[in-house]
Amino acid sequence: MSISRTINITCPSCGTQQDVRLYDAINVETEPELKNALMHNQLNRVHCADCNADFRVDLPMLYNDPKNNILIHWIPENEQSSREAILEEFDRSLEEMNEMVPEDIELPQVRLVLSRVELVELIYLIEAGLNQRVVEYVKYSIYSRNMEKVDPRKYRLLLNVQDSTKDELCFVMQDAGTNDLGSILRYGRAAYQSMSELYDENPDEFIDMFPGPYISARSLLLEDDLDV
Ligand SMILES: [Zn+2]
Repeated sequence: MSISRTINITCPSCGTQQDVRLYDAINVETEPELKNALMHNQLNRVHCADCNADFRVDLPMLYNDPKNNILIHWIPENEQSSREAILEEFDRSLEEMNEMVPEDIELPQVRLVLSRVELVELIYLIEAGLNQRVVEYVKYSIYSRNMEKVDPRKYRLLLNVQDSTKDELCFVMQDAGTNDLGSILRYGRAAYQSMSELYDENPDEFIDMFPGPYISARSLLLEDDLDV
């Protein structure tokens, strides 16, 4: 089931107020059209009736994909809520939730993302059958080997599943300040494949490195307070 509610929103360009219907949760199995809207950056988009401005309202949202047994929480990172605060708060509520659930119930995988771009990246990744922890491990090694050019404080690395080929995974650098997309980096799929096999044999090291629910090489590097 998808959940929406009506909220009174003020247009950022002209200040006109209007009631709009926004989604808090979407179930992509029962309402695939909402997923489509999300992928096309049309979900929770508001059109101002007065000045014609078009803007997106980012609220915490739950993406539920029962077929892939995954729940993704999108909690937007912004000036009011920092990455650190979101991660701390989310860990706390996840612990509380786990305590309430009987042990014999198998829970869906829970993931956390902090931006729409991360959410879309993760959806593509899941649907392509890629292993998120292995992909983040690949990003971690790209960052570590190119610290000057690909500084995690300045850039996000995003996997572009659509432009990846059978031989190469295609990553794009995104400026973390302006959100502009920049250089493309390619990574051999064979190397990804062998790492993925390592994961299947023994996932412990990957899970230690990226326990979740927020699985992000960049976040890990920023947390480690790297010396460049
Ligand atoms: Zn307006």
